[in-house]
Amino acid sequence: MAACPPADPPRVVSLEEPELRLEHCIEFVVRGNPPPTLHWLHNGQPLRESKIIHVEYYQEGEISEGCLLFNKPTHYNNGNYTLIAKNPLGTANQTINGHFLKEPFPVDEVSPTPPITVTHKPEEDTFGVSIAVGLAAFACVLLVVLFIMINKYGRRSKFGMKGPVAVISGEEDSASPLHHINHGITTPSSLDAGPDTVVIGMTRIPVIENPQYFRQGHNCHKPDTYVQHIKRRDIVLKRELGEGAFGKVFLAECYNLSPTKDKMLVAVKALKDPTLAARKDFQREAELLTNLQHEHIVKFYGVCGDGDPLIMVFEYMKHGDLNKFLRAHGPDAMILVDGQPRQAKGELGLSQMLHIASQIASGMVYLASQHFVHRDLATRNCLVGANLLVKIGDFGMSRDVYSTDYYRVGGHTMLPIRWMPPESIMYRKFTTESDVWSFGVILWEIFTYGKQPWFQLSNTEVIECITQGRVLERPRVCPKEVYDVMLGCWQREPQQRLNIKEIYKILHALGKATPIYLDVLG
Ligand code: ADP
Repeated sequence: MAACPPADPPRVVSLEEPELRLEHCIEFVVRGNPPPTLHWLHNGQPLRESKIIHVEYYQEGEISEGCLLFNKPTHYNNGNYTLIAKNPLGTANQTINGHFLKEPFPVDEVSPTPPITVTHKPEEDTFGVSIAVGLAAFACVLLVVLFIMINKYGRRSKFGMKGPVAVISGEEDSASPLHHINHGITTPSSLDAGPDTVVIGMTRIPVIENPQYFRQGHNCHKPDTYVQHIKRRDIVLKRELGEGAFGKVFLAECYNLSPTKDKMLVAVKALKDPTLAARKDFQREAELLTNLQHEHIVKFYGVCGDGDPLIMVFEYMKHGDLNKFLRAHGPDAMILVDGQPRQAKGELGLSQMLHIASQIASGMVYLASQHFVHRDLATRNCLVGANLLVKIGDFGMSRDVYSTDYYRVGGHTMLPIRWMPPESIMYRKFTTESDVWSFGVILWEIFTYGKQPWFQLSNTEVIECITQGRVLERPRVCPKEVYDVMLGCWQREPQQRLNIKEIYKILHALGKATPIYLDVLG
């Protein structure tokens, strides 16, 4: 007869911090005889099992081993997890910290559907109110200062951009009521090879600090612009979508945004550790985005501007950025079938490519009508939604993920040189016509399924090629009529380039006539 195991008080042998396996798992091992019953606390409160959180474990003799499982946890699941093991001989417990998504909101705010309750202390509320009042006062002062500064300088800047602001000089500027800060580099002859200058061969090329967004001929700042404010507690983060120049982009659910729906999916961009300058840029950017509304410009819903981080809320475009989408629908795309890489089917056809291109052109016709110069048009800055809906989706630069698309000059200066015309590279001149040049490069990207322009050349070689007048070759699957549009965008003289309205008309007409071209391609 087998000996009966001795009675044993419970012990939590191990409790590990969450680890991502198929789901996130807080792994535990518990001992005790009789086998202990297990209880969990989250931040000191009993944890209810739900669709998001449940326990799975097995028991062998004295040992119980398992996981507290989390299905797509959000920041609301961050916090301390305590495992309590009890049997008639006693109680044991152990606590670890579970950190799933970066906390974007103050901890004392409660989600509309919190999976787990977070307790409030009254003194924390009082403290929170004092901070809120302080911040509100600070925001008022900031707005006044901002207003004065904008009227003084009238500059456009990127949300989250750091450092001094670049100038654009040229006839557009003199016609503009805006007053631009000049870094002392206006013409090639007045150049010094300072930090703002790249020397290539015998040519000294001035470069701007940062590509920014700039409206020609109009004062872009409208002090009466009403930027929609969204409550932090109405946003529940779901998962990370990507990383931008200033911080992370998350998929989130937003409550009370649509009059017809209780909640809807949105994309939120969070600006981490904002400096004073970044906060100003944030406010300006929000006003700009509020004023830009078109079916082919990504919809901007509003901001959470109180506290940290600063958050912008956009419509969610389920297929992400256009560059990734093109690569995923090109001849080199691979998918995993039963864990094995396979050639993906579903290459984009000509009519789809033309449909994508004409939607971007339509967004650009609108931007030009608003006298808005984007300065960083590229497929990485367009987004794809359901039914091949494409929108210009980024008014900031995606430098972190696509850093090789930019050319670093000096400290932090990054330039999308592969999308820039000679006059932007050489004289820092950005206009609606330089946006048209970039659109030609976008067309090339579309017809190469997302290749990097001049991928075979280094950055300095690219600058040399563009300034000497070389243009990209016709992609293999590109009809002559479409390449003619590219060539029309890449005329050296800005005034000789096609106008964006004409481009839209041509592409739209070609899109309607594609069966003929498909025949030609055979
Ligand atoms: P930044 O403005 O800092 O450059 P991006 O806008 O490029 O950031 O965002 C980074 C990534 O996040 C994109 O490449 C894209 O994959 C994803 N993303 C951004 N906005 C959305 C959105 N509205 N819908 C879906 N995905 C998005």
